[in-house]
This record gives sequence, C-alpha cells and structure tokens, in this order.
Amino acid sequence: ESIADLGVWQYDPHTGEQQWSDGLRDLFGMGQEEEFEAGDAETLLYANDIDLVSHVARRDRERTPFTVHYDIHGYDGVPRSITVQACNLFNANGEVARVVAVVRDVTDQLTRERQLEHSRQAAIDEARVARELADTDPLTGLANRRRVMAELDRMIIDSRRFSDPLVLIVFDIDRFKVVNDTHGHQTGDKVMRRVAEITYDQTREMDVVGRVGGEEFVWIVPRVNQLQAKGMAERLRHAVSQSSAAGPVANVTSSVGLAQLRSSDTSGTLFARADNALYAAKAGGRNLVELAA
Ligand code: GH3
Ligand code: MG
Ligand code: MG
Repeated sequence: ESIADLGVWQYDPHTGEQQWSDGLRDLFGMGQEEEFEAGDAETLLYANDIDLVSHVARRDRERTPFTVHYDIHGYDGVPRSITVQACNLFNANGEVARVVAVVRDVTDQLTRERQLEHSRQAAIDEARVARELADTDPLTGLANRRRVMAELDRMIIDSRRFSDPLVLIVFDIDRFKVVNDTHGHQTGDKVMRRVAEITYDQTREMDVVGRVGGEEFVWIVPRVNQLQAKGMAERLRHAVSQSSAAGPVANVTSSVGLAQLRSSDTSGTLFARADNALYAAKAGGRNLVELAA
C-alpha cells in the first residue's frame, strides 16, 4: 500500500461498517498516531462531500469494477484528486456482501495531463496564428496570393461537385503609380488599405477577397453567374470611386475584369481570362467593368 501510494476502502452494506486502511487515512491527510474512531469514516466522507456509500448502493448490481472520481481536501488542508476503483463481492444469494475499493491519489497525474493539454492547446493556437500570418497580406489583412490560389482551387472543385457557378473578379487600382508619385508611398499604402476595406464590405461570408500583388486584388464569388457577378463588380467599382472622395486621395478608381468558370478551365486559365478582361477595361478607358470573352 505505502509503496504504491494507495488506500483500501472496504464496506459492508448490511452493517454499514467501513474499514479504512492506513494508506487511505494517509490520502486524507490523517496522521496514523491518532485513533480512528467509529464515526470518523462518515465524518471524513461527509466533510469532503463524498457520496461513496450511496454511490456503491446505487451500483449494487455491477458485476465488474467501477470507478468514481473525487476532489478532496485532506485534514492537512492539501487538495487532492482521488479515484476510487470499487468492486462488489456477492454472497450466494446474489446480494452484495462487501464492497472493496482501491483508492489512488491521481493529483500529479491530473496536473500533468492538464499541463499537457494546456501546452497542446497553446501549440495548436500558435500554429493557427502562424498559418494565418503565412496566408495573410500584411498591408491589407486580406488573403495573400498563396491563400487565394489555394482557395480558388478548392472552390473550383466545390463548384464542379455541386454544379454551382463560380466567378473570378480581378481588379486593379487605376494610375496608382501617379498616386504614389504625387502623394508618396505611405499615402499609396493608405489608399490600398481603404480599397481593401471597401471591397471587404461588399463581400459575402462565402467569398474570398485577396491581394495578389502590387495594387491588384481578386474577389472569388461562388454560386452566382457572371451577370449577377457583373452587378456585384459594378457596385464595387462604384463604391471605390465614390468613397475615394472621403479618403486620403480623391479620384481613386479601379478597373475590373471578371470571368465565369468553364468546364475546360483550370485555375490558371480562369485567371488569365479574368486578367484579359481587366486589361480590356484598362484599354477601354479605366473605371470600367469588363466580362471575359
Ligand atoms: P494602371 O491604371 O494601368 O493600373 O496604372 P498603374 O499606375 O496603377 O499601374 P503600374 O503597374 O504602372 O503601377 C503600379 C504601381 O503600384 C507601381 C508601384 O509602385 C505601386 N505599388 C505596388 N505595390 C505597392 C505597395 O505595396 N504600396 C504602394 N504604395 N504602392 C505599390
Ligand atoms: Mg494599377
Ligand atoms: Mg497593377
């Protein structure tokens, strides 16, 4: 008992008599020099809010060992977690003649498990933050090119699986070099963040918005066809040009190209068609939305 750091509890349901081993008294922080009086057992259980007697009474048909867990405060004031593994011994009439239980101090084990769980959770959180950082454009907080391409591949698969349409919108700030040259790079950055916010406000939960390089953005729009998406793109173009009046630089506009996924498309050809539409919008005079041919 003392080597294994455990205690033994025995109980006779007919007489109500309990036997507490020395090891069990140790677990409850009771010195061995004190006399263990009749009634001390009930007092100890009661003081620790332990319903062991009624618990074993409820399980008087169990043929296999059962386990109960308690958190206790010993006489010495030390909190401990214990498990009680009990087993019924039956007499010839099939009644419980005696309950024998091994009681173990699992405080250290639980503490280790909790620490382990805590470290595990912390590692998961850190990995998630690292993954988000690796997938995020630091300037705008939008998805970066890497994440956009991964999401696009995933959404193409979904679109085909559910026979839903999918549209890729690409857009680029007009004459952005002039903004930088006139107002400086920092103001240019502010304009870019503003455009990112405006775009984000226009999008739905299932959409993906990202910055894929320079002042070029994408908006992946699942479950709408290209006519519906054109309406959304027009609203975006309008919102960019309208809100720039209140922003750091007046007259910021954007050109937008969009393409709907075809059965023959890869993410690469879809992107290329949307890009071509964007160049057509630039060539057409900018601040325009163009559908892919
Ligand atoms: P267009 O209407 O044809 O798109 O003209 P543009 O001037 O916008 O296009 P161009 O490709 O000639 O110039 C893009 C500019 O975007 C040049 C580059 O300095 C600027 N740029 C790219 N990345 C950043 C950035 O992170 N911050 C800032 N402030 N400017 C950037
Ligand atoms: Mg540009
Ligand atoms: Mg550009």
